[in-house]
Amino acid sequence: MTRAVVFIDFDGTISPVDISNTFFTRFAGRDAADAVEQWKQGLISSCKCLERELDAFEGDIESLREFAREQPIDKGFYALREECLRWQVEVIVVSDGLDFYIEAFFARYGLDVCLFSNRLEVVGGHRKLEFPYHNAECGACGNCKSSHVERAKQVGKFIVYIGDGLSDKCAVGKADLVFAKGDLEAYCTKHGIPHVAFENLTQVTEHLKSLDIGTPLSKR
Ligand SMILES: [Mg+2]
Ligand SMILES: [Zn+2]
Repeated sequence: MTRAVVFIDFDGTISPVDISNTFFTRFAGRDAADAVEQWKQGLISSCKCLERELDAFEGDIESLREFAREQPIDKGFYALREECLRWQVEVIVVSDGLDFYIEAFFARYGLDVCLFSNRLEVVGGHRKLEFPYHNAECGACGNCKSSHVERAKQVGKFIVYIGDGLSDKCAVGKADLVFAKGDLEAYCTKHGIPHVAFENLTQVTEHLKSLDIGTPLSKR
């Protein structure tokens, strides 16, 4: 195994569409759209935002899975995975969304990935939200991505982080190499966090190819 590990966001990054926020804004009530707006302004945590989105949605939650299956993928993700496999670099998907629709999305594209996210269980029609990676010190995230990055850092990994949004804020300060687009790029620029701007994952893979992240530390 090499020294590097690649962490990558899901909504807006692997899936160019922010699936859950788009779904709830479009199909749930006004309060769901307000919740997303307040979350973007940092007024409520993503736990609260997800709770309100789910409460505002009265339809069959199964339709969120259907919606996810219909969304496009950044095709560059396939090559990124293949190169990482060749370099023996682990790829870890970290999301502040829900396993419920993310797993449906990956199954649709025939991809088996390592995923850390929040969870939604539907038992007898009752919806139950779970935040197994909640970090009390942070308070803003449901799944605080910084703790996953921190764990890899502690065993000496070189952290590559790829993301597009506000849910990536906690993680990027701890990464060694950040690829950012969208709101995350604006955030990194504003806070002086070094980053490589990107538009799609093909560009990220090309950039990584030019580095030697696949080389074990002992051979550098
Ligand atoms: Mg995102
Ligand atoms: Zn956090």
